[in-house]
Amino acid sequence: MKIYVDMDDVLTETARELSRLAAEFFDVHVPYEEISAFDLKQSFHLTDEQYLRLMRGAHWKGVLEGLPETPGAREGVARLMAQGHEVIIVTGRPLQTADVSQGWLRQHGFPEIPFFCLDKYGRWTAANDSDPRLLTREAFDRTHFDLFIDDSPLALDLLKERTACQILVFDRPWNRAYPLAATMRRVIGWEAIGAVDTVRV
Ligand SMILES: [Mg+2]
Repeated sequence: MKIYVDMDDVLTETARELSRLAAEFFDVHVPYEEISAFDLKQSFHLTDEQYLRLMRGAHWKGVLEGLPETPGAREGVARLMAQGHEVIIVTGRPLQTADVSQGWLRQHGFPEIPFFCLDKYGRWTAANDSDPRLLTREAFDRTHFDLFIDDSPLALDLLKERTACQILVFDRPWNRAYPLAATMRRVIGWEAIGAVDTVRV
């Protein structure tokens, strides 16, 4: 199977770190379990200016480099690859974070995996559109995947029109109210993805 794997909050504990940064920057204390909206501006009750500062912070090299790994992520990805699946990381992070993102993967012992940046949320445009790690929406729409693993409701909206695939919704507080399409199944942690061979595609 060709498997799309998201990065933030599937491989990395990004929202927990943003919650910590929001507390440090703005004295806003929203525990992880209470991050009910994927829109962190809404979840953290931030002004536009505070939100921009937080997101700039989130993409600081040091912040990205220091993100904790989601428990079981490396073993889970390695297991899928050992089962003969083709794993591809498709992140919504801006293209300018590609080097640090791939550095994080290496640092955390992930095998070499094809890596692409896709503007899933309409948030950025690529400064260098010849970078092979840029996946345009057009190219993405033309690419078939058998299985998707993502956490963000906005990404799920992007995927829900696809029918010949299975979509694993990586359980997070902000996607618990998301209405699952027929192709979607909630998974709690990487342990639950261990039995991916049994997933109907
Ligand atoms: Mg994500």
